[in-house]
Amino acid sequence: MKITSVKSHVLQYNLPEELGYSQQFYNRRTANIIEIGTDEGITGWGECFGPGNVAIANKTIVERVIQPMVLGDDPLDRDVTWHKVYNLLRDHGQKGMPLQALSGVDIALWDITGKVAGLPLHKLIGGAHRTRIKTYGYGMMLKQENVSDHAARFRDEAAAIRDMGFCAVKMKVGLGAKFDVELCKAVRESVGENYDFMVDANHCYTTSDAFYVGRGLEELGVYWFEEPVAPEDLDGYCELRAGLNVNISGGEAEFNRWGWRQLLERRCLDIAHPEVCAVGGISEYLRILALAHAHFTPVINHVWGSAIAVAANLQLLAAIPPIPGGMYQWEPLLEFDTTDNRFRDELLETPLNIQEQVRSSGGYVNVPAEPGIGVEPDREFLNFHELDL
Ligand code: CA
Repeated sequence: MKITSVKSHVLQYNLPEELGYSQQFYNRRTANIIEIGTDEGITGWGECFGPGNVAIANKTIVERVIQPMVLGDDPLDRDVTWHKVYNLLRDHGQKGMPLQALSGVDIALWDITGKVAGLPLHKLIGGAHRTRIKTYGYGMMLKQENVSDHAARFRDEAAAIRDMGFCAVKMKVGLGAKFDVELCKAVRESVGENYDFMVDANHCYTTSDAFYVGRGLEELGVYWFEEPVAPEDLDGYCELRAGLNVNISGGEAEFNRWGWRQLLERRCLDIAHPEVCAVGGISEYLRILALAHAHFTPVINHVWGSAIAVAANLQLLAAIPPIPGGMYQWEPLLEFDTTDNRFRDELLETPLNIQEQVRSSGGYVNVPAEPGIGVEPDREFLNFHELDL
């Protein structure tokens, strides 16, 4: 079997409303879907992390840099292909866009492998430790409005996400440390004492501001404090983790096993969030998972993007072994973005219907059972939203 083509489809549409996080506002939704063709007619699907114009750069890397390296390879030899591509790109990027591009290609090769074997991805990995995944909803994005409007809106949105059936909610912060604590208080008041919520800073704080916010979060009983400081600031992570009584989480901006080794060996994180569409794909995600478990660090995947990414993550979350083991296990969660996303809700021939599953099953979503990642995009939808580049 041979790889005959590697394509990147960059999809985009205008959001009904502008959304923001601590770094920027944005008004377009973008996804980068990877399609690998073979001489036996089996097609594999993957996805690269990277919004906006980053997706366009990744398309160029996938089609103009990686494709010529892998044409003619056996798609089942995905680890051989991974190392060939990584080693040839090492001098030009051990992190960032080259790894995001390689991720989409690797995921598509796993999809092909599953289709050839007639097995869903979680079976290829070793089986499902759980057949349905508890799901949390994130929303509460920043907008160009004043602080008191944010607080009122966050209160409403937190209650709305909870009432949709999600097991927990996650909010953004980034208006400044003082205001951010006030926003978090509003969310705790809204969801009540016995419901989990998480706070995502997207690395906007200095260490001292992160301590200020983190002490507020301790009092509010927040489940985790995500990306409090810059991903490069490992000392900051260590100080926060040692000094705060709230789970410190992060890792979505870290790449490959060598980047993750630093985070884990230095014990920067209470909870690790590897992003499979960025770390180097499923091959590298599995190595990072093993490394995390070698350090007894629990993993809750970072999830972003289209239904392809959601399906791949459901497969991986099913295959995460229990650590450390016990009758009443700590379980990983599926991250689910509750803001407008056509590429998640409408891309597939047979939609995952996450929101409906969450509503009807007390916050749980089933793991796809079809071969490979277990989903197929609708060609017409893909063509309609693809940018002409
Ligand atoms: Ca995040």
